[in-house]
Amino acid sequence: MVDKKQINGVGKIILDYGYEEDVCVILAHRHFGLARNETMLEKLEGDAWVAKPIDIELLEQLGAFPNLLICMGDSKWYPVGYGIGDNNALNAWADTEFLNKIENYLIKNELQDKLMLGARSAKEEKEKGVKFMEYNYEETRTSETRPCADFEFANGLPTTYAFTRNINGEPEKLCLRVCVPAIAVHVHTHVGNEYD
Ligand SMILES: [Zn+2]
Repeated sequence: MVDKKQINGVGKIILDYGYEEDVCVILAHRHFGLARNETMLEKLEGDAWVAKPIDIELLEQLGAFPNLLICMGDSKWYPVGYGIGDNNALNAWADTEFLNKIENYLIKNELQDKLMLGARSAKEEKEKGVKFMEYNYEETRTSETRPCADFEFANGLPTTYAFTRNINGEPEKLCLRVCVPAIAVHVHTHVGNEYD
């Protein structure tokens, strides 16, 4: 189980390094099985972020960049998802001091298999305040993340957090995305049902 304090602990490092517009924290979970040569590729289609499995060999020619990183405690970060469209987080991904600091925090708190780093999108930035819900379709192994109403958002499982500082200068997480609970098969447990 991951608690609010732990998520904000990662958020503090993101804020300290000034990557809060570029990097988010994601509760590690997945919805679909992947073959060894596959990874998830997410791109914007209309106003939805659509993620589908893709052959890893195709990533380069598509200009895809890692938008989801996980660490395993060996001083390396591994891409577990890719995106097309913008690459806000590339500076953060190249900042080894920043990544080491996060990794050390995760290891110290036994969170390295529970929290991942994600790239925030430019579009999301422009749409500040818009809540997104992720719908998952097993038949096509596709995830669609669409803007949703507040009441839908309130019933989803929180997965993705951005960070700001409150008036006392303390990190405060802001949930950006939730998953539809009925369809999601999660590797790790989400943080209860609180999303604020
Ligand atoms: Zn999900």
